[in-house]
Amino acid sequence: MPRLNGKVAVITGASRGIGAAAARILAREGAAVALLARSEGACQALAEEIRADGGRALALGCDVSSGKEVAKAARALREELGRVDILVNNAGVVEPIGKLADCPPEEWIRNIEINLGGALRLLHALLPDLLGANGTGVNVSSGAAHRPLEGWSAYCAGKAGLAMVTRSLHLEYGAEGLRAFGFIPGVVDTEMQVKIRGSGINEVSKLPRESLASPERPARVIAWLCGPEADDLVGQEVSIRDADLQKRVGLEVE
Ligand code: NAP
Repeated sequence: MPRLNGKVAVITGASRGIGAAAARILAREGAAVALLARSEGACQALAEEIRADGGRALALGCDVSSGKEVAKAARALREELGRVDILVNNAGVVEPIGKLADCPPEEWIRNIEINLGGALRLLHALLPDLLGANGTGVNVSSGAAHRPLEGWSAYCAGKAGLAMVTRSLHLEYGAEGLRAFGFIPGVVDTEMQVKIRGSGINEVSKLPRESLASPERPARVIAWLCGPEADDLVGQEVSIRDADLQKRVGLEVE
């Protein structure tokens, strides 16, 4: 029997990239998946693909920075799927890219509203469901949460805040059965990296596309974190660069 049979997973930023890859794998492992992103059409197309493959999927257009839209999505997915066992807070943007004083404050704050505020809104809406299910929350983090990178002050600050949210969740709800993880996915070949390469700012923008990982690699770790095999890592911010983790997930060790 697939290891996540009977579970319901909510994935934000599921219209493309790491979120879409995670949704495909979670569905293949038996979870019903709710796909959230602003691009509803892309989520619909992915939901149809998952259903054609025998899975269960619901597409919901949702800007995670909007309290109204998150509340509406939470109502719809509860109605349609009945429960929530897994929340993957993956939606994110890198912009604005530029030195701090060159970034208009509105754009800087918008990044925080999406990357940190969006995760908070989903957690706030779904925590009761997750607690009732001894569920899993995966906050997609970044190496940028732990060190500043030139031109990315908003992104670094938002991801650093999100890493603290993961620790707070574990402290406050770990004993009640919530399995909270932060997850650093490495440098992955997605649209976000297209924007980063286009900026020419800092060393990440200089990485050749061929050196980037495919989204399936971090997606496999996200799905693995949702099962009991990862219980000893609960509360931690795990990194795909950890060779021991790669072995445990069954990834080719790099
Ligand atoms: P991506 O291809 O640009 O995907 C980002 C996803 O977030 C899209 O589905 C996008 O959908 C969604 N999104 C953005 N703003 C949103 C909003 N306001 N409301 C709802 N959804 C929103 O980038 P990715 O690389 O897959 O990124 C996924 C996560 O991994 C992000 O949190 C990112 O910070 C993290 N990450 C990526 C890398 C990397 O190398 N790629 C490295 C470290 C961490 P819509 O535009 O349709 O809303």
